Amino acid sequence: MIDLQTNLAHVKGRIAAAAIRVGRDPDEITLVAVTKTFPPEMIEEAWNAGLREFGENRLQEAEPKITWLREKGLDLNWHMVGHLQRNKVKKAIGLFDIIHSVDSVRLAREISHRCTAKGTGMPILLEVNVSGESSKYGFRVQEANSQQEQQFLDAVEQLAALPRLDVQGLMTMAPLDAPEEVLRSCFRSLRGLFEKLKEDFPEVNWRHLSMGMTDDFEVAIEEGATMIRVGRAIFGERTHRQEDK
Ligand SMILES: *Cc1c(COP(=O)(O)O)cnc(C)c1O
Repeated sequence: MIDLQTNLAHVKGRIAAAAIRVGRDPDEITLVAVTKTFPPEMIEEAWNAGLREFGENRLQEAEPKITWLREKGLDLNWHMVGHLQRNKVKKAIGLFDIIHSVDSVRLAREISHRCTAKGTGMPILLEVNVSGESSKYGFRVQEANSQQEQQFLDAVEQLAALPRLDVQGLMTMAPLDAPEEVLRSCFRSLRGLFEKLKEDFPEVNWRHLSMGMTDDFEVAIEEGATMIRVGRAIFGERTHRQEDK
């Protein structure tokens, strides 16, 4: 048995300590509890402990869980944090409140199109692959690669003009098990890109940097994260893996 309340208190303490180390207000940081592989009863328990923001990475897994919790009448905000296929967008916009993982103009167009048809809007973050790992999704923008950066800026220009999308920021995943300097430089380079976007696209309300997970959220906070996506530190180790896609 895991003690969710204790885990959560511990995570909150770590968030506050990291924020204070760099002179930030801990309240600027939104904790998104990533619930993949964990059952809806545990999500309800997390809700009882005061959490309101939850993340899932696969539509198929998320749908029955979100439905179960909705039927209980709990007011949760759902964040889509994993890769989203275009043919699942229609379903996704009925389930999620924000999509962190927009990784192409084509996907953004589809979200915009489906939102227009439904008469709703959708907050989105743009996923950026700053580490250059080929296994990762996201717009690839490696530090000091001006060609990649230009391509990304062109994409942002197209995205920002799409109706019904509320572009709010950037998201990244740092490499797993990397040394702290490597993690830090990933987060720092996303932050640098964020600052550039604020200058180049002042009409967009850039406000979120979604970066940091169980193993690296303190470094991410030190480097400016406003949203961290944490699973294991709250819910314990996952006892089963998701099958490969
Ligand atoms: C699983 C996942 C997380 C959380 O990972 P933990 O190591 O459990 O904290 C964060 N972001 C994404 C995109 C994930 O898939």
